[in-house]
Amino acid sequence: MAQRCADGRNGRSDGAPRRKFVSLLAPIAALLLGELAACTATPPDPSAGAARQLDSIRSDPTELETFLRAFPKGADLHNHLSGAIYAESFIRWAVADGLCINKKELALAKGPCRGNLLPAAAVRDDRRLYDALVAALSMKDFRPDGETGHDHFFATFDKFAAAEDDREGDMLAEALQQAARDHTVYLELMWSPGMPDARKLGKKVGWDPNLVELHTKIVRAGIDKIVTQVHAAMNQREARAHALLHCAERAKRQPGCDVTVRYLAQIIRVFPPVQVFAQDVLAFRLVETDPRFVGLNIVGPEDDPTSLRDYSLHMRMFSYLHHVDPQIPLSLHAGELVAGHRGGLRRVRAEDLRFHIREAIETAAARRIGHGVDIEHEDDWQQLMAEMAQRHILVEINLTSNAQILGVTGTAHPFMTYWAAGVPVALSTDDEGVERIDLTHEYVRATEEYHLSFKQLVTLSRNAVAYGFLPGANLWRDVDRFVPAEACADDDLGSAEPGTACAAFLAKSEKARLQWKLEGELARFEGAYQ
Ligand SMILES: [Zn+2]
Repeated sequence: MAQRCADGRNGRSDGAPRRKFVSLLAPIAALLLGELAACTATPPDPSAGAARQLDSIRSDPTELETFLRAFPKGADLHNHLSGAIYAESFIRWAVADGLCINKKELALAKGPCRGNLLPAAAVRDDRRLYDALVAALSMKDFRPDGETGHDHFFATFDKFAAAEDDREGDMLAEALQQAARDHTVYLELMWSPGMPDARKLGKKVGWDPNLVELHTKIVRAGIDKIVTQVHAAMNQREARAHALLHCAERAKRQPGCDVTVRYLAQIIRVFPPVQVFAQDVLAFRLVETDPRFVGLNIVGPEDDPTSLRDYSLHMRMFSYLHHVDPQIPLSLHAGELVAGHRGGLRRVRAEDLRFHIREAIETAAARRIGHGVDIEHEDDWQQLMAEMAQRHILVEINLTSNAQILGVTGTAHPFMTYWAAGVPVALSTDDEGVERIDLTHEYVRATEEYHLSFKQLVTLSRNAVAYGFLPGANLWRDVDRFVPAEACADDDLGSAEPGTACAAFLAKSEKARLQWKLEGELARFEGAYQ
């Protein structure tokens, strides 16, 4: 059958997923000519028209953007909720909520608005102040003069933080709408609910190098109370987002309602060890108790002195908790570093580039890596890449983020090296609001910079859903070649009416259902160019 003919890695003409044409002919061919004939009778490639279209417009930025905006992009697996919001929204909420602007720091602040603090409403009559504030809260028009992209980028988060309070539901609604505009079926958002409380609890408990003891102390000190508070807060935030998007009203329902969203509990790593561990414990508990949380991640500048000093300790903390509950999936930021002065990261020693990705995978049991930019500085990196390929450790590629923060672009980026080594990759945004991009922008950027083929775009799109942490069996029996599960092997991928066995398979797996939805969208997209 068609799957046995598959020999490529990245696309349907490589023989993997079945289309109707094959389904109809295969039994006859098998009867008349045997299976060999089915293998040699190559069916028309349903993606050929879209591939031709891509090649005809790839040098026209406007046409390429239009083509790739409509292209179904699977998922965004690396997206920090606060970084996903554009500065204009934070300023709008600051005005509505009566916040202030620190004119000297160009930052939003809580009231009362006295001294250096102007009412945020002042931006209505002061265009220069508004523009300066947007530039301070994002990478808009950033020029490195006296400040690095890295420092400007990370400084934005404190500058808009005051506007986040009580607007989390609004932020979620914006992120969902953006995902819908990018034709994304799944969004895995990084979020830190309850983490400040976990850090306070950790501080109260105090450090104990025996992690078993420390874990017990943190649980006894009441981590589950924070878990309960987070559940309630998330209910409210999701309800607010659904109300803003009119998800319950047929006539006004917004496209963001149809994007499936899950969360990664986000641990901030720049705090003392006990506070990081308390966040880890909270993150594991959230994933264990709330199906909305499907995994966890560790964030914050990887080159921060505390992050560097405690890197191996953080990985050992994850290792301990992973052994307590091996079911909890981890995606870890690792290798978001560069050598020397590029991007202004002068704090990084060569020593710090040698082991972060390996420890994230081999010590902390990470299933995905965020960034992985410095891999070629790791000890025995070719072996590490081979191990990642063999173990199917996906790398979340954030091209614009890496350009803005690290100064790494083009061939200096290991994107194509990962690809050549067989390491699965997917494109993501990292912080689309701060960076002033979206997922479509990243597909355009990748297509232009790396001359990607249409089949490679399809691979990126499918990988993003296939490697998401949604529970359930994968639609792909062979995820490298996109060979479907036996139950769906005779079905037209993505069809509205899958056969009985396939329907039963899909009914049991939320992930496979989303993959099926994506296949339907890919087939429709390709169909428009046939
Ligand atoms: Zn990130």
